[in-house]
Amino acid sequence: MHDARTLPASKFAAIFDEISTIGARPSEGVTRLAASAEDGVARGLFAAWMEQGGARIALDAIGNQFVCFDWAGTDAPWIFAGSHLDTQPRGGRFDGTLGVLAAGCAALDLSEQASAGRLKPTRNLAVVNWTNEEGARYQPSLTGSAVFSGALPLDDALTLRDGAAISLKDALAAIGINGEKGTVPPSPKAYVELHVEQGRKLLEAGRSIGIVEGTWAARKTTVRWIGRAAHTGPTPMVDRRDALLAAAQGIAAFEDVIAANFPLLHRSAARLVVEPNSPNVVVDRATVWFELRGPDVAELDVAGQAALAAFEKSAADTGTQLEIVADALRNPATMDGQLMTIVGRAARSSGFEPLTMRSVAGHDAVALQNSGVPSALIFVPSVDGIAHHPDELTLPDDVQAGLTVLTATLRRLIEGESHAG
Ligand SMILES: [Zn+2]
Repeated sequence: MHDARTLPASKFAAIFDEISTIGARPSEGVTRLAASAEDGVARGLFAAWMEQGGARIALDAIGNQFVCFDWAGTDAPWIFAGSHLDTQPRGGRFDGTLGVLAAGCAALDLSEQASAGRLKPTRNLAVVNWTNEEGARYQPSLTGSAVFSGALPLDDALTLRDGAAISLKDALAAIGINGEKGTVPPSPKAYVELHVEQGRKLLEAGRSIGIVEGTWAARKTTVRWIGRAAHTGPTPMVDRRDALLAAAQGIAAFEDVIAANFPLLHRSAARLVVEPNSPNVVVDRATVWFELRGPDVAELDVAGQAALAAFEKSAADTGTQLEIVADALRNPATMDGQLMTIVGRAARSSGFEPLTMRSVAGHDAVALQNSGVPSALIFVPSVDGIAHHPDELTLPDDVQAGLTVLTATLRRLIEGESHAG
């Protein structure tokens, strides 16, 4: 059977445009941090839209939303599809939201077909909105998917604190999420995520659909330099222990050592917290969030050691102390080969020749795949590769391509296709 069908793009556009206004400000993009009031509004709108389509909603204790279509009966296996509705501060409209709403549209479409007898589901489908994928408000990122898949203990996740010391548990409670609600489906047979590429490879290759075969590893290291608060005026220079100066030197040394010795790794220092943050107090504590990303864990280890040596030197040079607050490795993922084959078949039968590619960024599909749930990650192009910026854009034809291939993939999975043969 030919999968190509023009899905009503207007159905996607209507809900996408509505959710895109939540947390949006002119020229500042969308700010919908995890478990914020804006996130609560988006969750409510999404749930209401799906309930109108006949789904039942369940929540687990970390606030993951499961939109359930129990077509195949309570004992049948489950297929999940989804992504996340939270954003970065001043983020784009498509990152995450595309995957959740496209999966919602696909589910509604498949539900209609099942009701009309044009589809015989042998598996149930849940559309999932994972909590705090972005890691902007709470670190680590991929929180909801990591808890669901068992990689992160629930209590550790609920006691995470944001920059204002609000726990994730309290933030969720403030938007009405107080523990599990409804019947949460069991671990699925497969998870499929549609996401924007956040790079330029699809555009350069002239393709609309990417199938991710694997992702890079990431080493995320949070470092604190501890100095000594003092008056910025009278304190003699020789007595100063300036934590901000140490951080500045540490960041510059990190840039130099990694660029010189590991030029293919992606590196960043992207968050700095200064205490007490007064113009008249020599900085007591400066905390910096560093990242290294690359395909090879062994190389990240060596690079990480070189970075730590640079941080220690900047501490020694400024008379400050170094504290390693967090140093976490996210393993690379190899996505499921059989699912890749099914997605490829769905893409070709819909008229799209897919590009097999790697992802630099982590996604919820990585958390699930690495915990043993066979997972697929489908990419659509990002104009100019722009990501985590208000100008993030995926063109309507590419959104349609993603929606078509996601729907065709889910149709195959809920009808029971499970192997490459
Ligand atoms: Zn995302």
